Amino acid sequence: MPSEPLLRVRGLVKHFPVRRGAFLPRTVGAVRAVDGLDFEIGAGETLGLVGESGCGKTTTGRLVLRLVEPSAGAISFEGEDLMRLSPDEMRQRRRRMQIVFQDPYASLDPRMTVRDIVGEPLRIHGVGDRESRRQRVAELLQVVGLRQEYADRYPHEFSGGQRQRIGIARALALQPRFVVCDEPVSALDVSIQAQIVNLMRDLQREFGLAYLFIAHDLAVVKHVADRVAVMYLGRIVELADKRAIYATPQHPYTRALLAAVPRANPGPRQPLMPLPGEIPSPSAPPPGCHFHTRCPHALDRCRAEPPVLRQAAPGHFVACHLP
Ligand code: SF4
Repeated sequence: MPSEPLLRVRGLVKHFPVRRGAFLPRTVGAVRAVDGLDFEIGAGETLGLVGESGCGKTTTGRLVLRLVEPSAGAISFEGEDLMRLSPDEMRQRRRRMQIVFQDPYASLDPRMTVRDIVGEPLRIHGVGDRESRRQRVAELLQVVGLRQEYADRYPHEFSGGQRQRIGIARALALQPRFVVCDEPVSALDVSIQAQIVNLMRDLQREFGLAYLFIAHDLAVVKHVADRVAVMYLGRIVELADKRAIYATPQHPYTRALLAAVPRANPGPRQPLMPLPGEIPSPSAPPPGCHFHTRCPHALDRCRAEPPVLRQAAPGHFVACHLP
């Protein structure tokens, strides 16, 4: 990765207040959705962000674009401190930072034609005139593998995979450098998932895009990520090169996630243990290591002291008290 990453995140925190009381609501606690994240993404790189539902990964994607305001932390993009920008300045920067949403059924306005959906970012940012925007929409549809005559149709006329292609075309309209991909294939049939993942990889190569690719299992990111960060209850527990994550996972949670991924050639490498129990509530996370209530190796120390993310091997970071 180049010395100055495209995106740098330090100490990112998001706590949502929990309020009680129908007439005079008062704050009685906080959901610690994101609890101190550090990571970087280089130009043209894909960082996979993986974890179970409720671990904070979707919130993380929105925080780095400031679609949700962080409670604390620093975010820099292309060397610029995003936290210092006004809402208007931030909107300008989002020309280069886009998002593809999980649910292609919910994320497209059913009353708009494909032309209006894909061309909307161009119109909002005042790019080109009507005719040049028509041209650009036609180009974008071609780039994502859709026929140009689809431009006058409405979202309900398309399959899930085609709708996700429309969402991707829209995200690319302003030629971004960075795209948050928020579980872009989770809502699709398995047979369609590979097509969309391959399309996203091709687009990445063609346009030099960097991705934060969010997924709930390690199977999907295996095909797209250069590095993988594993999240548990608002914290990154392991971050490493993709090969290291799959070949020599260090954190017990990563090993449990890998146990859930079907393997073509199961070998004698690491003992992989499926994960017992449910993820605890982020409004009352267990003290110490958040994972200790489900960890087969938990020590007394784990219940009291949160492990820090330390470098276990070059470029391989793990938050665990085990040696
Ligand atoms: Fe398990 Fe302790 Fe490591 Fe947490 S710190 S993963 S509880 S061994």
